[in-house]
Formats: sequence, C-alpha cells, structure tokens
Amino acid sequence: MTPFTYQRPTTVADAVAAAATPGAKLIAGGTNLIDLMKESVERPTALIDIGRLPLGAIEEADGGLRIGALVPNTTVAEDERVLARYPLLASAILAGATPQLRNAASTGGNLNQRTRCYYFYDVATPCNKRTPESGCGALRGVNRIHAILGTSDMCIATHPSDMCVALAALDAVVEVEGPEGGRAIPFADYHRLPEETPQRDNNLLPGEMVTAIRLPNEDFTAHHSYLKLRDRLSYAFALVSVAATLRIEDDRIVEARVALGGVAHKPWRDREAEAALIGKIPVRTMFEGFADTLLAPAAPRGGNAFKIPLARRAIVRALTQAAAGTPQSQTNKRIA
Ligand SMILES: Cc1cc2nc3c(=O)[nH]c(=O)nc-3n(C[C@H](O)[C@H](O)[C@H](O)COP(=O)(O)OP(=O)(O)OC[C@H]3O[C@@H](n4cnc5c(N)ncnc54)[C@H](O)[C@@H]3O)c2cc1C
Ligand code: SF4
Repeated sequence: MTPFTYQRPTTVADAVAAAATPGAKLIAGGTNLIDLMKESVERPTALIDIGRLPLGAIEEADGGLRIGALVPNTTVAEDERVLARYPLLASAILAGATPQLRNAASTGGNLNQRTRCYYFYDVATPCNKRTPESGCGALRGVNRIHAILGTSDMCIATHPSDMCVALAALDAVVEVEGPEGGRAIPFADYHRLPEETPQRDNNLLPGEMVTAIRLPNEDFTAHHSYLKLRDRLSYAFALVSVAATLRIEDDRIVEARVALGGVAHKPWRDREAEAALIGKIPVRTMFEGFADTLLAPAAPRGGNAFKIPLARRAIVRALTQAAAGTPQSQTNKRIA
C-alpha cells in the first residue's frame, strides 16, 4: 500500500470538503476499498472515513423510505418496512455476499463498489478503467464474466452489485451532497456505460458523495422476484441476475419493470420493451418475446456468449415467478 492520511469527519460538510482534496477517497465499510488498496489498484493519498457521519437511519419520506448511505446492507434487508413494502430489495441484498460482509457493507459503498473484472484487479495487465488509455485485457482475453450489453471497445466490465439491480427496478433516487450543494439523481442516471471513459463508474461530480437512497411510494409487493444465477449457490457474483416486478390487475399487466445484473456496466433496463408488456396477460410466450427484445442488442465477446441464452431463461423464469407471486427464495437458493 502507498502511504495515506486518515480523517474521520463528523459532518457531511466536513466530509465533502475533505473529499475534494486530490487523491482523497471515502471509506465506509471498507469491504471493497481495502481489498483494492491491498492490490494497489486504488492508491488514495487521503482516506476520509465517513463512519461517524449521521447517515445511518432508515426514515419515512413522502410515503416511501429514505435509506441513509451508512445503513448496513443487513439492516436494510431485515428492516420490517423494507420487507413489507420493498421485498424485492431485501431479496436482492440477501442474494449477495455473506452475512459477515453484508453486516459491514454500507448502502453508499454497495452503490460505488468497483467491477470484479480480473484484469482490473491485476495491475500487471492493461486496463482502461484502472489506467486510462492502457488498453483492455478482457476484450481478447478471458471474458466469461463480462458484459454483453452496452459495452464499448474500451471496456466490457459489469457492475457487480445485486442491490443496485433491485434499486433500478424500483426507480430509486440517489441523494448526493457535494461542494456545490445537494442534488437528487434518478437511479437510471447514476451509473454510466463505459463509452470512451470507463474509468468513470458513475455520474458523481468531483467531491460529491452519496448521502441516501430514496424509494418512491409504489406497490410491487405482490409480484416480484430477484433471480441470481452464478457459478456457486452462494458467495459468488452474478453471471446474470434479474429483478422483475409486475403490477397485475384483472389478470392483465398494468406495469412492468425488469432490470438485469451481470450483463452490463450498470443495471440494464429497456423501458420500451417494458411498455410493450402493458395490457397483456402474463403468460410464458409473452415473457419469451420480451426477453428476446431485451437481449436483441446483446453483443458477446467470445467467452461470454453463453450469457445470452442464460439471461433469456433467467428473464422468463423471474417474470414467471413474479406473475405467480412465488418469488425466488434467497434462503433456499436452489432454482426449481
Ligand atoms: C468476497 C466478497 C463477495 C462479495 N459478493 C457480493 C455479491 O455477491 N453481491 C454484491 O452485490 N456485492 C458483493 N460484494 C461486494 C460488497 O457488497 C461491497 O464490497 C460492499 O457493498 C461495499 O460497501 P462498503 O461500505 O464496504 O464500501 P467501501 O469498501 O467502504 O467503499 C467502496 C467504494 O465506495 C465508495 N464509497 C463508499 N461510501 C460512499 C458514499 N457514501 N458516497 C460515495 N462513494 C462512497 C468508496 O470510496 C469506494 O470507492 C462482495 C464483496 C466481497 C469482498
Ligand atoms: S473490461 Fe474494463 S475493467 Fe476489465 S480490463 Fe477491460 S477496461 Fe479494464
């Protein structure tokens, strides 16, 4: 590790001021950042420990919920209001990592965790995300875990979070605070596609930090499912995941939201494809057509071609589970 200074501000204003220093990095639970520092992928010169900021509460807000950036993932997944009103979010969180990691991992840190691309972690290989303009080891390398949608010739990394896939389907809003004040970013606009600047994972401006996530007052409790497919049943990142939510009235779909994880640089949604489900009877053939539309732009890069049929089956399965009101269990992870 390279030497760094360490600060523990107690107000958001002080944290934002400290974060504006070149080379500074925020640290919350440290479950991602410390790993990256040990591998010399991240080399901050100043660590701003935000653990003492007053961002640890889940509160009622405009009929929905506001989750502070420091609320641990376990606390969110076990909160009675989240379980009753946003079970999709609880399910997605429980699909990730391990109980010990979820206890330490924070809401803001989960959003801002970095890709699990092997080349990103290996400083002996080229990687445009780690070192801009150095090349991409994955493009012609081992790329079975990489993205099939929204890629560029600069980067084909995926965003690794499970929680964010559910937040995308729930149309969450990210509250941030920065040197110019506070603003709210719709979840779909928070993370970025790689394009020409894969070193930027999100649309935070310099010095900005996440302070909370807002969940709108909506009801997707009856019909939802978070389905995660991975190499092992637990303690593995998603090859493909699906957060499926439906609102069904008189046997017809009146609203549909489907977000995919493990397939792109950000949780992937296609609102036009979702709109085409409205007014339809929720049957398998329709879900298959929807999956085909969603995956039509998919562009495999060799080793990850298997993700297209895998994602197709996962989308159909998750929507079938959601429609039937039988969501995927995260305690018995076997898929029937
Ligand atoms: C072995 C292992 C397995 C895992 N498996 C999964 C999995 O299956 N699914 C999954 O989703 N995740 C998984 N994770 C990732 C885990 O969820 C993240 O490491 C965790 O959520 C990060 O939260 P943290 O508070 O520890 O963040 P930190 O490590 O403290 O920070 C991570 C990044 O976020 C930034 N940051 C932190 N807080 C803020 C803020 N408020 N505003 C702006 N930036 C901020 C930091 O500067 C840093 O860049 C796994 C991790 C490990 C180590
Ligand atoms: S896919 Fe992205 S993160 Fe992975 S090596 Fe290429 S540029 Fe780096």
